[in-house]
Amino acid sequence: MSLTVVGSIAFDAVRTPFGARERMLGGSAVHFSLAASFFDAVRVVGPVGDDFGEAEYEVLRGRGVDTEDIEHVAGGRTFFWSGVYGWDLNERDTLDTQLNVFAEFEPKLSAASRACDVLFLANIQPDLQRQVRAQCESARFVALDSMNLWIEVARDSLLAAISEVDCLILNDAELRQLTEEPNLVRAARRIREWGPRVVVAKQGEYGAALVTEEGFFALPAFPLETVVDPTGAGDSFAGGFVGYVAAHPGEPLGHELLCRAMAYGTALASFNVEEFGTERVARLTAVEIAARVAELGRITRFVDKPLALRD
Ligand code: AMP
Repeated sequence: MSLTVVGSIAFDAVRTPFGARERMLGGSAVHFSLAASFFDAVRVVGPVGDDFGEAEYEVLRGRGVDTEDIEHVAGGRTFFWSGVYGWDLNERDTLDTQLNVFAEFEPKLSAASRACDVLFLANIQPDLQRQVRAQCESARFVALDSMNLWIEVARDSLLAAISEVDCLILNDAELRQLTEEPNLVRAARRIREWGPRVVVAKQGEYGAALVTEEGFFALPAFPLETVVDPTGAGDSFAGGFVGYVAAHPGEPLGHELLCRAMAYGTALASFNVEEFGTERVARLTAVEIAARVAELGRITRFVDKPLALRD
């Protein structure tokens, strides 16, 4: 089976209390692809400019990601994003967003990308997400991520895109902003009325919550002593979560499968934040992922013992 993703392919400039990078490989589709590559064959769709070189392609190809549908725009510049984090790593300020080659991009997917079994519309302008969605008619599971910028400048397009997918994955603050609903459970219900039957709320260092018609599930973030750069954590989470779904084509796509997918998303996100950009996930191993998922299972389990409670 195969997994197609469209989203930003970027150069990022990031400053955190633990260091800075002036220009590193990033982008929602890149972080997603690397994480999802542990689960299935991944095809990444998006444009890059002349500044995107062999070293950047090699990070993706090194994980077996198919880059055929990366369009090189001659004379263009790659998407650029710059952000800064303070001591609260759940908060970040965007300093600069340059769409560059994305401003004129018209996605034309290859037959192989169109025939995907699972599709992820990573964070990018929602009209582009819709154009890609329309080309992947046979996908059995389509998930979408977005951000506050698109809620603010392209709300109607974003609502149209959301109505065309099975699953919405969004930061909890953005879920509230989008639905104008302060309570997460009610916000998720509102989203489900718009179309998606699955809603995932990303809660930064507090973890992630899942809402389906069958119920609610939540996991904390994996407890780490060292967090260096949260950039891409959400996309890595999505890569683990959606990748796990893609790796189970024969299993009913219900609550139980999605709860397990949450554990893999949580594990992938936790590796991503240990170093800057794609540095950690690019040299991650399957054994390390399995060990972290097992540890997550141990630390989130508890056994109740009956107790005579006082009335
Ligand atoms: P995350 O930390 O998972 O929310 O995503 C971080 C990535 O999103 C960075 O690598 C950026 O290049 C990318 N990004 C930031 N702003 C945007 C935007 N407006 N559209 C698409 N991608 C973006």
